[in-house]
Amino acid sequence: MSKFLSSRLKNLSAYTPGEQPRDRKYIKLNTNESPYPPSPEVIEAVDCQQVGMLNLYPDPTCKILKEKLAERYGVTPEMIFVSNGSDDILNFAFMAFCDREKGMAYCDITYGFYDVFAQLHGVPSEIIPLKEDFTVDVDRFAECGTNVVIANPNAPTGIALPLCDIERVARANRDSVVIVDEAYVDFGAESAVGLLVENENMLIVRTFSKSRSMAGARLGFAIGAPDLIADLELIKYSTNPYDINRLTQIAGAAAIDSDSYYFENADRIIETREYTTKRLRALGFEVIDSKANFVFARHPLFDGEKLYCRLRSEGILVRHFKGERIKQYLRITVGLPAEMEVLCETLEKILNERG
Ligand code: PMP
Repeated sequence: MSKFLSSRLKNLSAYTPGEQPRDRKYIKLNTNESPYPPSPEVIEAVDCQQVGMLNLYPDPTCKILKEKLAERYGVTPEMIFVSNGSDDILNFAFMAFCDREKGMAYCDITYGFYDVFAQLHGVPSEIIPLKEDFTVDVDRFAECGTNVVIANPNAPTGIALPLCDIERVARANRDSVVIVDEAYVDFGAESAVGLLVENENMLIVRTFSKSRSMAGARLGFAIGAPDLIADLELIKYSTNPYDINRLTQIAGAAAIDSDSYYFENADRIIETREYTTKRLRALGFEVIDSKANFVFARHPLFDGEKLYCRLRSEGILVRHFKGERIKQYLRITVGLPAEMEVLCETLEKILNERG
């Protein structure tokens, strides 16, 4: 840190992304990417001709992308915001809707970036602990009286909230924005998109990084009432109007056209998740029922961090968090069936070593 860093930022602890090591080939189950490639249509769309046009700025309004998303989700283009990954949208939402007086409520165990954004923007955070069983304390969100962000399904637990609970939180906080982060919704949870008509304070945030196999392209979108979307546009046009590059816009449009390909892959991932859950339970792991493309598991006899390190030395990357309540758990992304087979066999070997 230099002596020039603003005093406002001196105590900021940045988000730590999952490792992307290059030292050897790993089975990569640590950042919830899809194990399946983008659809053939996406690969074809990002062709040489498009690369040859990179001398020109992309469309800042992202018209085609917005129209396609609007049609796909049954809303108008004015209800769609697109950005360079959903992290950007969450960041913009903190900037747009929070200030020193009006903060953000979120769970103690959830996506780590919410806390980073709250710190970054000097926004008061109301941290609502998950209940003992790791479910969201809906009653406390319903009475918080401030902006809310809830990941549904939650990360890293994978537990999904029913829509009636989401609706209750939105109705109880009419003077605040209720953000539903649906990064993992396509793997078995219910989307709140249908609740938008009656709940104009709700903003749904989605990503192309998981079920649409495009983490490397950086594309996220939000759906909400036109005035909320206009607020996000205000921030975008005050920071970086060209935040979605030409190739990503084209890839995104092609991805929306190949939804059936992605639905099939999501079904495969769900099937592999259920199989992996069964296998891990047979090995003695406690595995939380997941509606996401990862599972959250701990073994009563093995330390979480040690298990993470041992797997890493065997060439398998999973995610370990140091938080007090979750440090015995591993978050394991659902990969290809063959990768999960190797994971389970390796875990079996490690557990047997200890007798
Ligand atoms: N929300 C949640 C809950 C996530 O886990 C992630 C990815 N780690 C994101 C948002 C951000 O995804 P992206 O920026 O790739 O769209």
